[in-house]
Formats: sequence, C-alpha cells, structure tokens
Amino acid sequence: NVGNVSDVMTALNNDAAGIGLFRSEFLYLEKDHYPTEEEQFQVYKTVAETMAGKKVIIRTLDIGADKQIDYFDMEPEENPAMGYRAIRICLDREDVFKTQLRALYRASAYGNIAIMYPMIISVDEVKKIKEISAHVRQELSEAGVPIGNVEEGIMIETPAAAIISDLLAEEVDFFSIGTNDLSQYTLAIDRQNPKLDTFFDPHHPAILRLLQMVADNAHKAGIWVGICGELGADLSLTETFIRMGMDELSVSPAMVLPVRQKIRETT
Ligand code: PEP
Ligand code: MG
Repeated sequence: NVGNVSDVMTALNNDAAGIGLFRSEFLYLEKDHYPTEEEQFQVYKTVAETMAGKKVIIRTLDIGADKQIDYFDMEPEENPAMGYRAIRICLDREDVFKTQLRALYRASAYGNIAIMYPMIISVDEVKKIKEISAHVRQELSEAGVPIGNVEEGIMIETPAAAIISDLLAEEVDFFSIGTNDLSQYTLAIDRQNPKLDTFFDPHHPAILRLLQMVADNAHKAGIWVGICGELGADLSLTETFIRMGMDELSVSPAMVLPVRQKIRETT
C-alpha cells in the first residue's frame, strides 16, 4: 500500500511482488488545483516503469470523509463517512473521472497497470464505470494512443458490496477487500473516533464471515481476490486468510517481509 513514488521504491526494496494499492488521492491532496491529465500521466508512468512489469494496482480518486480537498468545494456534511465520497464524486464529476482514466490508460503502455474503483455499492455503479472507461479507451485508440492490457477491479469495502459480491464478480477482473472501511461500516464504528477503540474488534466474526463470502464468490466467478486494508498485515490472521483462499495480501512496504515470513512458516 503506497501513496507516492518514493513509497514505491521502498516497496521494491522490500521485494514486493507488485503494488496492491496505490492511493492516487495523494496526487490530488498535495496540489492546490485539479491535477492535469499530463501531471497524473507522468506519475503513473513513473510508477509503472519503476515496477518494471510487476503489477501496479492504482485506485481511482478516493476523497471525501477523512480526506477533504479545498478546490473540490465540497459542502459540509452531517455524515461525511457515509456521504459524498470516492466513486460517488467520480460518477457525479465525470470530467474529473475521465481525466484520471485517460492518464491511467496512457500510462498503462509503460508497465503493468491495473485500475481499482473504491466504495462500490451496486452493480449499476460498476456498469456505469465500465461504460465511461470503455469510452475513454475508445477515444484514446481513435487518437492512436497505445494502451496496455488493463485489469479492472473494485474494492469491496461496504457491506452491500460484500453481500452482492456474487453479482459484482460477474462484472470485474478482481476484488480487493478494504477492511478499514468494511469494518467501520459493518460494525457501525467510526474508524476515526479513538473513543470507540475498545469496541472495535477487527476479528469480529461478522467481518471474517464477509471475507469468506467474498473470497468464495470471487472464485466461483473465476476472478482473484485480495485484501488491501490494514487487516491484511495482521500476522495473527495470515493463516486464516490462506485458509479462506485469499490470493493476494497488500500491506505497507515495511510489512511485506514479515507477512511473507509468516506465510512461509505456515503449514
Ligand atoms: C480500506 O478501506 O480498507 C482501504 C484500504 O482504503 P482507505 O483506508 O484508504 O479507506
Ligand atoms: Mg477505504
């Protein structure tokens, strides 16, 4: 899990097999204007080239809730965690979404880029995203711009997405489970409120059951499934994740080797 080019180097130095979550929102957060297609393209291209053929999963813009950006001019909300955020903004602001997708597809010619969409709750959203994404690819190929072979996946980080993961699996190339948000929404515990830490149980059976359900539904449809939330690095669950059939664990660069060691020790 990384947010900039220097983190990508650290991941590589820790022998990561790829990048499971590149948080593209940092590109937007560090600027005082909408990052242009060219600005984004340069970053995604550098990341793809740095990883030299290893897979780089770039998550499209995930702001709102805990991540606010002035130039987006968002209205204050009563419940921002359940509000105008992530894919909801992208589907509402197609101009912003398309600029990012164009940059991603252009960069895909320089390495092994996959695209992942956050905060999905419905099949209709995914269909709409695929339509926009196909349109962007069409425009680029008509302009003679080379693009790579890009897997498109979604984050499973709402209970709704987990519960209909059988239907969603028919639409996408992979699932990556965002346990940070999935836990917050399943347990109804604000992940930002330290007062609730004593109530927060990331090993809650409700969460573990959802993870198993998502893994099973992914495999029934023949797609792969990974975990990219913090729980992926919880060494006390590594064996459980292997039993569940998780195909990939995405963790912070410093946790790559400890997780790998844990996997190797597991019989
Ligand atoms: C998650 O929700 O688990 C996740 C990986 O995304 P973020 O922490 O950025 O919300
Ligand atoms: Mg999330």
